[in-house]
Amino acid sequence: MNSKLLLIVPCYNEQEVLEKTYERLNNYIQQLVDKNLLSDTSKICFVNDGSRDRTWQMIEELCRKNSRITGIKFSRNFGHQSAILAGLLENVNQYDCYITIDADLQDDIEAIGMMVEKYQEGASVVYGVRNDRTSDSWFKRFTAESFYKIMQKMGVPVIFNHADFRLIDNNVLVELDNYREVNMFIRGIIPTIGFKSENVYYKRAEREAGESKYPIKKMISFAWGGVTSFSTFPMRMVLWFGFFNFFVAFGIGLFVLISKFTGFTVAGWTSIVLPMAFFSGSNMIAIGLIGEYIGKIYQEVKARPRYIIEKFTETPGKS
Ligand code: UDP
Ligand code: MG
Repeated sequence: MNSKLLLIVPCYNEQEVLEKTYERLNNYIQQLVDKNLLSDTSKICFVNDGSRDRTWQMIEELCRKNSRITGIKFSRNFGHQSAILAGLLENVNQYDCYITIDADLQDDIEAIGMMVEKYQEGASVVYGVRNDRTSDSWFKRFTAESFYKIMQKMGVPVIFNHADFRLIDNNVLVELDNYREVNMFIRGIIPTIGFKSENVYYKRAEREAGESKYPIKKMISFAWGGVTSFSTFPMRMVLWFGFFNFFVAFGIGLFVLISKFTGFTVAGWTSIVLPMAFFSGSNMIAIGLIGEYIGKIYQEVKARPRYIIEKFTETPGKS
């Protein structure tokens, strides 16, 4: 049995790695084709996410010399999640299965073969899970692993140490196409779609070349986007905090009453200013948090496009 695979690679300013990534992926796919695991009609789709370097020119060159390569060019930078999404949604019903992988090849490409095998054994989703992060910096490892733990605690259905290296089959993709939300936190959405899933484990390597396109600011905004699009836990925390404050205020009231009747009047500056600062602070946090969610609703209501494609290197023939 051989399957028709589309490998989707989001690229943002990746001119340093693109050539090497292409060589390795193309050779590897060819090996799988030779082993009769993949069909010869399998393709690799590079999505250029508004790069400011030569990434797009390089993709066009690759397409010219190898018919296995296709490319999508965004009109500007829309972010990693949109790039993955475009690669998938522009190719619905064209392939048996789809794998998304980062351009820097930090994810072990050997796992691609394992994913396809699991797919052929009946899995509709195969998650690539990093079980060894020793090549990441201490900081990256710590922030990334805390991210998964906190997300899970808040009820976001993420798979621990799984990023966006995964296989989905066409059935799952058709369902994904029905998710109309603008803020797509893909790795949280896929587990909610269901179907049979499997994991494959691999060691995360270092970036081939170039530097991370995920600076700390983008990481925080990505994590916060994930939390707010999946969980109202922060709002519930505010509610608890409100109750807590209420009881504290009640306690203070009681204390004031008792001091009045015992004639022990300490009611002075601190007892006024301290609770005031505390309550106004917690009020502001609560309002800010509600604002975050309203902002999110505002974005969803506007329903702006999640990405804008300037051109394709080859029309994928989306019907
Ligand atoms: N990427 C993208 N758009 C962005 C940022 C990143 O398409 O705005 C791509 C990038 O080219 C790479 C992948 O997303 O293929 C993951 O980025 P990176 O390797 O820099 O992240 P890290 O591994 O450091 O978390
Ligand atoms: Mg990377």
